[in-house]
Amino acid sequence: MLNDLLVIGTGISGLTFAIKVAELNPKLKITIISKGDISEGNTRYAQGGIAVVRNLKDDSIDKHIRDTIIAGDGECDRSVVKFVVEEANARLDELINWGAEFDMNKEQLDLGIEGGHSEKRIVHYKDQTGKQIQDVLSTKIKGFSNIILLENHTLVDLITDHHSIEKKGRCYGAYVISQEKEEIVKICSKITVLSTGGAGSLYAHSTNPSTATGDGLGAAYRAKVRIDNLAYVQFHPTALRNKVNKNIFLITEAVRGAGGILLNSKKERFMLKIDKRAELAPRDIVARSIHKQIKEQIEDYVWLDGSKISVDIWKSNFPTIYKTCVSQGISLPNDPIPVVPAAHYFCGGIKVNEYSESELKGLYAIGECSSTGLHGANRLASNSLLEALVFSHRAAIHAIQSLKKPLLPEEVFYKALPIWNGEGYSKSGTLSEVKSLRLKLQKNMTKHAGIFKTHEGLKLAEDLINQIYIKVSKLYNEKKLTYGLSELRNMVSVSYLLIKQAQQIKKNKGVFYIQDYDKFYRPLQKST
Ligand SMILES: Cc1cc2nc3c(=O)[nH]c(=O)nc-3n(C[C@H](O)[C@H](O)[C@H](O)COP(=O)(O)OP(=O)(O)OC[C@H]3O[C@@H](n4cnc5c(N)ncnc54)[C@H](O)[C@@H]3O)c2cc1C
Repeated sequence: MLNDLLVIGTGISGLTFAIKVAELNPKLKITIISKGDISEGNTRYAQGGIAVVRNLKDDSIDKHIRDTIIAGDGECDRSVVKFVVEEANARLDELINWGAEFDMNKEQLDLGIEGGHSEKRIVHYKDQTGKQIQDVLSTKIKGFSNIILLENHTLVDLITDHHSIEKKGRCYGAYVISQEKEEIVKICSKITVLSTGGAGSLYAHSTNPSTATGDGLGAAYRAKVRIDNLAYVQFHPTALRNKVNKNIFLITEAVRGAGGILLNSKKERFMLKIDKRAELAPRDIVARSIHKQIKEQIEDYVWLDGSKISVDIWKSNFPTIYKTCVSQGISLPNDPIPVVPAAHYFCGGIKVNEYSESELKGLYAIGECSSTGLHGANRLASNSLLEALVFSHRAAIHAIQSLKKPLLPEEVFYKALPIWNGEGYSKSGTLSEVKSLRLKLQKNMTKHAGIFKTHEGLKLAEDLINQIYIKVSKLYNEKKLTYGLSELRNMVSVSYLLIKQAQQIKKNKGVFYIQDYDKFYRPLQKST
């Protein structure tokens, strides 16, 4: 069957897009895939909420635009910021009509405030906003007869002219690993949509689930699709340090907003000396300060002391954090929480236009894997769920229009495209090698391409990634392509591109920080 649309990813962006298209045109054939369970992705972990200007008495569209642009440190696309902020209310209302619930304050939506916002405008549901949205969308999508949902199907590569005898300069679908059948299948489609989320798993500590390996970015890179701003990686300052399980759990900055303070190993409140806003300074400043503290002390974490927050507030406003801490033997509010900064959000991604079209014909990208121009060099808190809603709507309308135009003859999508040849490859021995190479890559990226970077460090990171690339290529050419190997292949591609783009940046901006920037660029600037 030739699909009209293949959607890769079932977070807020992929699901919203597919639901919209299916509602607007029930005749279109849509396949949507996720690499694990439908609900596993960054969306379900979002705690804070969605930024929307609801209270026009104190707040305004202009203020939200200004806050976004200030956070983005001069790198945002102003026209994109404008339409995203303007369209926010309509998209939120739609989500509410679909059944999503948010906390109320009497008859109105309860509005919270987060770092970088000048007014209260964060719509939320306890500390489980993402789960609330994910559950509503995951249920809704199952009601459409024109959508085929395939869980446990992993994107390997996009099908492009590289695979085709027809050279039409477009995307024709994707090769995908069916985990159940243990084989690679070809899914042909007139339009392909990447909504594969971020790549926090490139780092040893990340708030993202371990599935966030940048697969869409890796596949797009190999298909020679333009990727922008990859080096703008946002690190969240406070993630619960978990010695046993490296999957880190986020402690939202609303906890610091509610009175939580940061202490070093001597129990000193170090943020007071660094910034007058102390713990509520922007995320990049707090994350760098914690990182520095950790380097200067023996313990590899700092404390988040929430003893000023009452147990009732912990339980009502932060129920998930409360439960998680208690399950780890941290008795709140009296016990301080050990926290570390962790890779959190990729501000850049596949370069798209205002309808989420990439530069490759027939390929769209939405959500965290895309680079729309909204975030610039630093995402404003709670703007990413909003971006996903606005762009999935725009992409849906645009894709439906595109499909009305005469396309290529159907046979182009079949005849020209070969099936994946996986014959004769053995799987043995891959697992342990993939695991150890993945750990090596994460250690390397954390040490040399993390919160603090230096030019020397980036060069070391590049050399190490090249060595890992050689080993991964050998595995890829000799062994059966598994889920884990495919993820690792993407992690290598994305790490390499991130390092190369970081080496090109000539200025510390937003979340990007090169420690020896002065040494490399200041003399050059003075003489010109
Ligand atoms: C802990 C945490 C808290 C956050 N809090 C907030 C917040 O309060 N407000 C806010 O605006 N943003 C927040 N964010 C960011 C926001 O949640 C994400 O940017 C957003 O949910 C991304 O949605 P998405 O649809 O692009 O991707 P995701 O929700 O990550 O979904 C990605 C999908 O792609 C699929 N996929 C990936 N690779 C493949 C592959 N190879 N083959 C097939 N499928 C694949 C996955 O299975 C998944 O279904 C938070 C993020 C985290 C991690």
